[in-house]
Amino acid sequence: RPYVAAPDRYESMAYRQVGTSGLLLPPLSLGLWWNFGDNRPFDTQREILRHAFDRGITHFDLANNYGPPYGSAEENFGRMMRTDFAPYRDEIIVSSKAGYDMWPGPYGIGGSRKYLLSSAEASLRRMNLEYVDLYYSHRPTPEVPLEETIGALDTLVRQGKALYVGISSYSPERTAEAAAIARDLGTPLVIHQPSYSLLNRWVEDGLLSTLQREGMGSIAFTPLAQGLLTNKYVDNPQAAAAGGRTTVQGLTEDNLAIVKNLARVAEERGQSLPQLALAWLLRDGGVTSVLVGASSTAQLDDNLGALSNTSFTDEELTLIDRITSG
Ligand code: NDP
Repeated sequence: RPYVAAPDRYESMAYRQVGTSGLLLPPLSLGLWWNFGDNRPFDTQREILRHAFDRGITHFDLANNYGPPYGSAEENFGRMMRTDFAPYRDEIIVSSKAGYDMWPGPYGIGGSRKYLLSSAEASLRRMNLEYVDLYYSHRPTPEVPLEETIGALDTLVRQGKALYVGISSYSPERTAEAAAIARDLGTPLVIHQPSYSLLNRWVEDGLLSTLQREGMGSIAFTPLAQGLLTNKYVDNPQAAAAGGRTTVQGLTEDNLAIVKNLARVAEERGQSLPQLALAWLLRDGGVTSVLVGASSTAQLDDNLGALSNTSFTDEELTLIDRITSG
């Protein structure tokens, strides 16, 4: 059955400006790191992606090595681009990245011009795209001059293979340096993708203020701490760990105590725990978009429910600060 996107898909989503750029992103974006490799049924992936787009999620985030195996998330997404989403290409923001290991040898990892340019080509081929909307340096690589890494992003823009570029997990200092280099080159370095969640608040220590100063936006990855900020860990942490994402980091007694206290705040606000976690990231002065993973449309709907209440009283914010500081 051919896919026809829901006609009302833009009616309830309030898109947000990425820094001072002209790019708009939905407050909730979908990440394809975990549930879109060859180890998951294609039909489930298709159902989640269609549902996301039907509900106004216009941004899909990928990277060269998402899977498993590496490359398979881009391949599966490419299949969707060729079929369901082909008529909607101009309504979709696709991102990809290179930085972590992708192929053997010295040119399949890092921040060199050699790696970034060849990996971007390979990603475009896998996804059946002529360009990506957003291309990232996936991680800082101190052994490569920043001019070279940002220069490679600039080349992709000039070649028409990326419309905007970004950086991920860069420190505040390196972010400011990258922004200065990009400004000199005239390349649209518009966004930073950091980890950020109620259990991981490092960005508040200088990164968010740097981005504000540089006119850049931000999109938070692992906003649910890879599933830790969900009820399944409150109810039965051991079973959840065994049945779900076994790589989940931070499954400590301290974090579980924090999660339980946060669950009470969520309940008071009439939100689910994931809804609280996402709404808090989107509160005033927070981030542009949150990049959530989902293994079902039900999870996605739950997460989208966060958007109906993203304001917090001062008392709630103070209480949350107290809880998350342990
Ligand atoms: P999340 O914190 O969003 O965790 C997602 C997981 O939480 C899902 O896979 C699911 O677990 C569970 N979940 C989601 N919603 C619900 C819900 N409503 N109720 C119960 N459980 C729920 O982070 P991810 O690790 O998936 O990362 C999100 C995206 O961020 C990635 O896809 C990627 O695009 C990006 N990312 C970027 C990185 C970078 O270096 N730039 C690094 C890591 C991620 P389950 O699958 O077990 O059902």
